[in-house]
Amino acid sequence: MPPLPVLVLNSGSSSIKFSAYEAGAGERKKLFEGAVDGIGTDLGKFWIKDADSRKLLDQTPALPNRAVAFKLVAGALHSGDFPSPAAIGHRVVCGGPTVSENQRITPALIDEIESYSALAPLHTPIAVYIMRQALSLFPGVPNFAILDTYFHRTMPGVVTVMPIPAEYAGMGVRRYGYHGISYESIVYQLQPEVPERLIVAHLGNGASISAIRGGRCLDTSMGLTPSGGLISGTRTGDIDPGVLLFILHKIAETTTNATEAADALETVVSKQSGLLGVSGQSNDMRDLREAIAAGNAKARLAVDKFTWTIAKWIGAFVAELGGLDMLVFTGGIGENDIASRAEICAGLGALGIELDRERNNVRGAATISAEGSRATVRVIPPAEDLMIVNHVVRLLGGQSDQA
Ligand code: AMP
Repeated sequence: MPPLPVLVLNSGSSSIKFSAYEAGAGERKKLFEGAVDGIGTDLGKFWIKDADSRKLLDQTPALPNRAVAFKLVAGALHSGDFPSPAAIGHRVVCGGPTVSENQRITPALIDEIESYSALAPLHTPIAVYIMRQALSLFPGVPNFAILDTYFHRTMPGVVTVMPIPAEYAGMGVRRYGYHGISYESIVYQLQPEVPERLIVAHLGNGASISAIRGGRCLDTSMGLTPSGGLISGTRTGDIDPGVLLFILHKIAETTTNATEAADALETVVSKQSGLLGVSGQSNDMRDLREAIAAGNAKARLAVDKFTWTIAKWIGAFVAELGGLDMLVFTGGIGENDIASRAEICAGLGALGIELDRERNNVRGAATISAEGSRATVRVIPPAEDLMIVNHVVRLLGGQSDQA
C-alpha cells in the first residue's frame, strides 16, 4: 500500500482531539495534531501543531456546544492547509455486546453503536455525532470505528459475566473493559519481546489496570462502564452495591421521578466521587500532591485510597497470571507522578516488584525497577493514535484486524 494520509478523531466528553499520519505498509509519519478543548465553556482552546510541535494555529474560541467545536475542526481540515484524508479512524469507547470488531463505519453501524450510549454516556454521544459528521463531510472517504473494548474481547467468560439475573445479562450487562487502545499500544511498543505475564496500569484522570498474558487481555478492572474498577479522578470504581442503594434512597427523599433519581445517582458515581469525593478538593493529582505537602489529611487519605486499591489489584492479577514478568505504568499519573508509583510498589516486594528510587525519579519512558527485582517495572507513554492508524491500515488492506 502506498503511504496515505490517515486522520484520527478521538473525542472526549469536553474535547475533540485529532491527528494525521502518513501511513503505508510499514511507514508511520506524523503530519500534525490538534484539539478543541473546553466544549461547553466560553473560553475554549483550539490548536494545531506540526510534527515538530510548532504551533500552526492557537485560538481561544467560545465553544458553547460540540457542533461549534467540530465546525472549527472541519473548517481547518477542509481549508487546504492540510492534506485531505484518504481514510479516517474514530476512537469508539464502547461497541456494546454486538459491535466487538474494529470495522468500516456505515450509517447502520453508527445507529447500533448509538443504541449502547448508556454504557459510556460521557463518550459515545459525541463520538456518534462526529462519525455522522465525518461521513457527510468527507464523502467517499472510508471511516473506521476502532474500539476501546476490542482489546478486552479475549477475556474469558468467567471474567466478563456479572453475577446478576440472566434477564439483565441478556440486555448486554457484562464486563467490557476500557482504555483498550492504550493497552494495545503498550503491547505493540513492547514487540517483539512481549512478556508472557504482564500487568499494565493506565493511571490518568480515568484509571484502570489490566492483566495481559502472551499479549492478550486476561482481565481488566473496568467493567460494564468506565466507572467500575479502580477509584479514579471523579469515579467511585468498584463499590459495595449497598452504598448505591443507600444514596438512591437518600435521593428518593427529594424526587419521585425515577429518571431524575437515576441521573442524580449517576452524577454522584461518575462525577463527584473518587479522588474528588474523598479529598473534597480536586480530582487532579497535581493539586492533591500540593495539598498533601501542605499537610492536608483528606488529600492524603484520597491518594492513599487510590494507591492502596491499585496495589490490591496488582496482587490479584499476579495471582491470576501465576506470577509476573513486567509491570508497566502509563497515563498522566503513571507517567508523571513519581510518588504514586513509589507508594503503589512500596508493599509489593513479596510479589517480586521492587523499584529503584533513583531510576523512579523520572517523568516519561524509563525502566524503574531495582537491579534484583524479579519483575521489570517500566514507564511507557501510550500511543493510542498510532494504534488507531495501525488498525486503519490493516483494515484498508482488507486484512482481518488481529493486532
Ligand atoms: P490523563 O487523564 O492521562 O491526561 O492524566 C491526568 C492526570 O495526570 C491528572 O490527575 C494529573 O494531575 C496527572 N498528572 C499530569 N502531570 C502530572 C505531574 N507532572 N505530576 C503528577 N501528576 C500529573
